[in-house]
Amino acid sequence: MAFAGCLCWKMAYAVVAIATPDAFIEQTQVLATVDHPRFLRQLALLNQEAPGLTPDQRWHLRYSNAWEAMYEGDYAKSEALFQDIIRHSGNSRLADRASSMLLSQYGLTRRYTEAFELADRLATRLPQITDAQVRFALLLNLSQAMGSAGQIDLAVHYAHMAMAAVPVDGHLCYPVSELVDVLFNGHRLQPDSRELQQALAACPAASEPVYHTDLMLTLADLYAHGGQPREALALLDRLQSSVEANGYVPNKLSALGDRAWALAELGENDAARQAALAVVAQARSGDFGEFLKEPYEVLYRVEKKLGNTAAALDYHEKFAALDKAYLDDIHARALAYEAVQQHVLAQKLDTERLGEQNAGLRAQQKLDAKTAEANRLYLVLLLMALGLAALLMLRLKHSQLRFKRLSHLDGLTAIYNRQHFMDEAGRLLHQLERRKGMACLAIIDLDHFKRINDSHGHAMGDEVLCRVVGACKQHLRPVDLFGRLGGEEFGILLTDCSREQGMAIAERMRATIEATAVELDGVVVTVSTSIGLAFTDVAGHDLRRLCSEADAALYGAKRGGRNRVMAGVEDLAVA
Ligand code: GH3
Ligand code: MG
Ligand code: MG
Repeated sequence: MAFAGCLCWKMAYAVVAIATPDAFIEQTQVLATVDHPRFLRQLALLNQEAPGLTPDQRWHLRYSNAWEAMYEGDYAKSEALFQDIIRHSGNSRLADRASSMLLSQYGLTRRYTEAFELADRLATRLPQITDAQVRFALLLNLSQAMGSAGQIDLAVHYAHMAMAAVPVDGHLCYPVSELVDVLFNGHRLQPDSRELQQALAACPAASEPVYHTDLMLTLADLYAHGGQPREALALLDRLQSSVEANGYVPNKLSALGDRAWALAELGENDAARQAALAVVAQARSGDFGEFLKEPYEVLYRVEKKLGNTAAALDYHEKFAALDKAYLDDIHARALAYEAVQQHVLAQKLDTERLGEQNAGLRAQQKLDAKTAEANRLYLVLLLMALGLAALLMLRLKHSQLRFKRLSHLDGLTAIYNRQHFMDEAGRLLHQLERRKGMACLAIIDLDHFKRINDSHGHAMGDEVLCRVVGACKQHLRPVDLFGRLGGEEFGILLTDCSREQGMAIAERMRATIEATAVELDGVVVTVSTSIGLAFTDVAGHDLRRLCSEADAALYGAKRGGRNRVMAGVEDLAVA
């Protein structure tokens, strides 16, 4: 089966002057199927005027030239022109029309692979094709293409779509006829099929004589091959005049072919032979090879029945060759269609695989971004944790230092406790000894302190202790070491201090303590103090020796009447 060229731009245009080239070009194209000689004249005129046309008008003219080349059978030229329009015109409507024509041409020239590839592309593009005429023509051609591929369901589907998309100036006759054609070729048509009745109604004999006759001949064929040869012959008789009037050769050939078949069925061998031979004669004179198979089969059956073995064999050979070619063609179309489908499927799978790969990459990138984000978060958390740890360590260090410092201090007077005083005094004396520095150790003991406790209570005793410390500090330098040795006894190490300086400082401390009135809850007490001194110049830098010297001096001060300062072995009391 060959694809039919599309007749859907058959519009009754009035003659338009070339002064309006757009309308003239369009009208010329309409003439192509209505009045071909006039079409050729106008086309020649347009080609002459081509240099004065706009680029878009020249593309339309090119389309008409392509159409004519295809009509003349110059398929190489028409294909080149159609391809040029599809690729370079930039006019999507015209490109779609050209594609639709090219699809027809591929079918005509049995280039099935190209046909089905193009059909597939056009079917994909279908949703974007909104021009009613172009869409309608394309649906018809897609139906034909699918029908020729043996894809009857698809072909029926496209034919129905075309029936639902008839443009204002189009005709329902074409898609319904196409549907009948598809069903007939798919062996799905019966003489009483609804579609056949619908098509006959849509293509009345008065306005569409060729289509109407063609449909009636389809019915005759169904009768002839469906065991109703008499009905076939009766119908063919009725159609005889219109077939002749139309002068459409394919109709004539199929009418004769069906007649031959029906006559053979009825056993009217001579008449069957005559009709079959008439088909052979007419089909051979033109390019109508596809109509030869049936008459050869009839001739073979008739000759065989009549016992003409040689003739029967001869016709059978011819029939067999044509039948084989026919089946080969069907097979080639089915194969081409399958190959294109596989190719399209493979491309689709490829696209999906690429899509999946891209999705995978995108997911990976997303994951990487998330990981980077998580890493940044971890880093921030880590820094925060480190900062917190450092802060905690600092605070720990601070509290450790504070504890350490507190552990060095006396709880009541906040000067060094005995332990720390002794440690520090030993260390300082050691340093002084190395650089031959001098120092003075003073041990201070409050006089009759017990009495204060006894008379005024421990709170008063504590207050006195604190005030005594305060009084001593007034006379000390920051470098001097001051500690509470226990109870009401204090030690002071005066560094880099001469005997005279030491004596003077001690005396000033004693005097200040004596002069300090301690007041608590309205009670005022005073206290005196005894101070024993030891000097490194006599006792050396050994702490224990200095201590015992100072203790001895203190004892001397107590014994001497208290409230005085005494130094080492020599009594230098200044009271
Ligand atoms: P002397 O003149 O001979 O040194 O007589 P004294 O009373 O000062 O000597 P003693 O050693 O007999 O008394 C010391 C008293 O100091 C005994 C104790 O109750 C008191 N004392 C020791 N430590 C503290 C303290 O932290 N607070 C108070 N309020 N009293 C203390
Ligand atoms: Mg004491
Ligand atoms: Mg005392």
